[in-house]
Amino acid sequence: MDVHNVEMVMSAVSPSQYPEDGRPEFALVGRSNVGKSSLTNTLINRKNFARTSSQPGKTQTLNFYSVEDEMYFVDVPGYGYAKVSKKKREEFGQMIETYISTRKQLRGVISLVDARHKPSEEDVMMYQWLDYYNIPILLVATKADKIARGKLNQSESIIKKAVGFDSANSDFCFFSSITKSGKDTVWNWIEERM
Ligand code: GDP
Repeated sequence: MDVHNVEMVMSAVSPSQYPEDGRPEFALVGRSNVGKSSLTNTLINRKNFARTSSQPGKTQTLNFYSVEDEMYFVDVPGYGYAKVSKKKREEFGQMIETYISTRKQLRGVISLVDARHKPSEEDVMMYQWLDYYNIPILLVATKADKIARGKLNQSESIIKKAVGFDSANSDFCFFSSITKSGKDTVWNWIEERM
């Protein structure tokens, strides 16, 4: 999709604040610093639209971006801050859980992991939890430009094995916001589910 029009329409903490026009939604999840803002900006052809690395301790909200007045990207705050209190983490978990498990418009989740590392415990939990709810998942391994071509297969195997990849409802691709590789794959995946 060639995107010209993106608007941040809502920062929501509870379901009463979610948009009500019924458009398809695609959520983006991943630990902070994984490259989620960079991927979002690449998808929508902007340099600095999505905020990069929101600060720990800040109010954590679901951010709804309207894309071409056709769908929403739902930016889920990055998990994995060691410094966030247990209470905050629980509130945050509940907010995501409510959204993911009840939202009818949610057509799929783009779940980001760093291609260079074995997925963290939280990455694995997130994936398995999405899988449990039978949400279509695109598992995206980011920063693929940092991996030698010859090592891509190995990286893919390590990631899939670690999360317990379920090919019944999941797809996998590499992505780089530097080379833009994977951009078309991600868009095709989204458009097939709109
Ligand atoms: P977020 O916290 O998940 O939104 O992550 P950001 O998009 O802010 O990226 C975190 C850091 O990783 C920044 O320094 C980015 O420049 C870098 N980064 C993001 N995507 C890529 C990528 O595809 N390749 C490389 N080499 N660096 C990336």
